[in-house]
Amino acid sequence: MSKRDYYEILGVSRNADDDEIKKAYRKMAIKFHPDKNDGNPAAEEKFKEAAEAYEVLSNRDKRARYDQFGHAGMGGAASGGGGGGFGGMNMDDIFSQFGDIFGGQFGGGSRSGGGGRRVNKGSNLRVKVKLTLEEIATGVEKKIKVNKYIGCDKCNGSGAHSGSSFSRCSTCRGSGHVTRVQNTILGQMQTSSTCPACGGEGQTITEKCKSCHGDGIVHGEDVITLNIPAGVADGMQLSVSGKGNAAPRGGIPGDLILLVEEAEHDELERDGSNLIYNLFINFADAALGTNVEIPTLEGKAKIKIDAGTQAGKMLRLKNKGLPSLEFHGKGDLIVNINIWTPQHLSSDEKKLMEKLRESTNFKPHPGKKDRGFFNRMKEYFE
Ligand SMILES: [Zn+2]
Ligand SMILES: [Zn+2]
Repeated sequence: MSKRDYYEILGVSRNADDDEIKKAYRKMAIKFHPDKNDGNPAAEEKFKEAAEAYEVLSNRDKRARYDQFGHAGMGGAASGGGGGGFGGMNMDDIFSQFGDIFGGQFGGGSRSGGGGRRVNKGSNLRVKVKLTLEEIATGVEKKIKVNKYIGCDKCNGSGAHSGSSFSRCSTCRGSGHVTRVQNTILGQMQTSSTCPACGGEGQTITEKCKSCHGDGIVHGEDVITLNIPAGVADGMQLSVSGKGNAAPRGGIPGDLILLVEEAEHDELERDGSNLIYNLFINFADAALGTNVEIPTLEGKAKIKIDAGTQAGKMLRLKNKGLPSLEFHGKGDLIVNINIWTPQHLSSDEKKLMEKLRESTNFKPHPGKKDRGFFNRMKEYFE
């Protein structure tokens, strides 16, 4: 589905000024606000779409880029909210960035922008995990030790010396935010912002915990058990919610972000969910046929080499590859056959070779299929 034009979404002309854009967005946002639409997904889509349009058109740089290049200029993720390719904005982004636009029209509930106390969030923790192909094939449980912020146990993460070391913030009277009434062309608008005195927490600490100096968190160590699914790949990121750094003063901990690193395998190479094994046989075996053992991730497997096998032939061992995250099932193990040419010969061997060289059947007479490079590629991709 192609993206709609941002001006069209807000119903404004291309030369609308900032006020018109804001006014148009406010209208849309109120119309499609989730509190008014009872969780209707179509309304939620419209609500998000309008927020995305407003996010771009209300920012001078982004708007200029959009005017010049259209959606292509937005680089996929128009939100800039760090969605990392997921595009669009999520509801929390919208409320935290544009919550003020509702001017107290809707109840705050648990949403960050609509009012209520701010909850601290711990930072994310990034950790690399190195996995072997065998571990990737089956999925694996790993215990890792990490250094991170953990809750201070002297004060139970509150940051206060004792339970009575708190006082309600006098600036916001404990609500965590301050509201202001402004006269605008739209009439009176109430805007709400984080209380500058308490940083949105609604209370201040009168006597700080000695162990964490009021932060509620200290440096510490944690052992985390990870359940890594089968089929992950080098460079992938997995996030484990709530296992990152603890948040100051009893907030929500951050996430643990795992960066998957794949250890090189001694014998097998990976190509997506397929595995490739480069088998070398001598040309006597290629000419006469033989049985060979090859490595798989589940141990050795025996395969038959037909008499008259040419170099470059590929054999496919079905379902001996890796599980795929994209489709059901497993990839294959592809055996790519190479013929090993001897590089050092004794005089006896040389004599034998010279004899063979003269023999009629040693003259190459490739068929069309043997000659075509693309035929072999086709064999690989089926
Ligand atoms: Zn306050
Ligand atoms: Zn403490």
